[in-house]
Amino acid sequence: MYKIKSTEQMKEIMGTYFRSLESGSRKVAWCTSVGPAELLRAFGFEVYFPENHGALLGTTRTAMDYIPEAVKCGYSGHVCSYTTADIGAFLKNETPLQKHYGLKGVPAPDILAYNTNQCREVEDWFTFYADYFNCPIVGVQPPRHLDEVSQDEVDLVVEQFKKMIPVCEKVSGQKFDIDRFRETVRLSKEATLLWQQVLRTASAANPPLSFFDGTIHMGPIVVLRGTQVARDYYAALLKELEENVRNGLGVLPEVRTRIFWDGMPIWGRLRMLSDLFAENHAAVVASTYCSSWIFDQFDEHDPWDSTARAYTEIFINRSEKAKMRMLADWFREYHIDGIVYHDSKTCFNNSNAKFGMPQRLQALTGVPALVIEGDLCDMRFFSDGQSITKIETFLEQLEASKIYN
Ligand code: SF4
Repeated sequence: MYKIKSTEQMKEIMGTYFRSLESGSRKVAWCTSVGPAELLRAFGFEVYFPENHGALLGTTRTAMDYIPEAVKCGYSGHVCSYTTADIGAFLKNETPLQKHYGLKGVPAPDILAYNTNQCREVEDWFTFYADYFNCPIVGVQPPRHLDEVSQDEVDLVVEQFKKMIPVCEKVSGQKFDIDRFRETVRLSKEATLLWQQVLRTASAANPPLSFFDGTIHMGPIVVLRGTQVARDYYAALLKELEENVRNGLGVLPEVRTRIFWDGMPIWGRLRMLSDLFAENHAAVVASTYCSSWIFDQFDEHDPWDSTARAYTEIFINRSEKAKMRMLADWFREYHIDGIVYHDSKTCFNNSNAKFGMPQRLQALTGVPALVIEGDLCDMRFFSDGQSITKIETFLEQLEASKIYN
């Protein structure tokens, strides 16, 4: 059985991170997953990410117990199930962090910081908590759906970032220090470039990491950006994976097809889907989701412009044309035979199958596409039987077309 040994180290790192949130030694900032974590860390905040909590509610399959609580408060069951599951769990004062890490609950925020580069939902979500805790909320609202990001747009986002400073100074009790900011940007840059190299190991003929492994190992790049711990973890993981490639060790004994996953993970069915692809000799080698935490623009010598640009240029914030260019590049880099689009019921923003992209991208690249319906957390929108049949048929067709071509 192939195993990534660094997984144990990653679990320890995540446990230490969660427990540090309630040590009480530092003020706590809540941040969106592609929000201004570097700036918050420069003020010495512990940084907590509600989306990571949403994913935990999804993987533990507890989300459906909580979504109705949020619905009772007026949140539609058709909006982001991270949001509704997280708010519902909070209202019931329950969290998997209690059972898995011994926390009393989620840590109360001293400040909330969002970035709508991914969706407007995060602003609504964080505003619920700002009202509840009566605490300050700051945010960045970059221009969306751009083909290219120009300097004008970067300047606008820099101004928005800088407006956070007085609020962060007041809440943290610390003056802004550009050198501390440079340092967190440097650490984030090093970690994110290592993460990029980690993902790239899956371009090997026998990939040492699948999309499903990636959703687990991405924990530190999401919640510990801007720290030495995250940087060192990805250096160690990369070393292990590169060694596995050299030794011909990979996730499957035999890879017949190479698949790209677009959209959100289906957290409540990760294991089932991982087994399904493996049984059909298909390696899911790359994804838009895991690649969302590659910020290769970070530059500590130009911390404002580079962070503004990095957070504005991310895949989810781009036009369909730009997304298609990025996907076509990934197809070439990872030698992709087929793409599976997860059309997520409650995440319109991270679903790319609604406006004809699968057909257009297939015509452009020749890479066949399959669309499956589901959801990130709310498994009422996912049909096991239907999805399994669709995926198996798609993989059989891909294999057959490779044999006859
Ligand atoms: S991108 Fe989608 S899943 Fe993530 S917070 Fe926004 S709506 Fe929710």
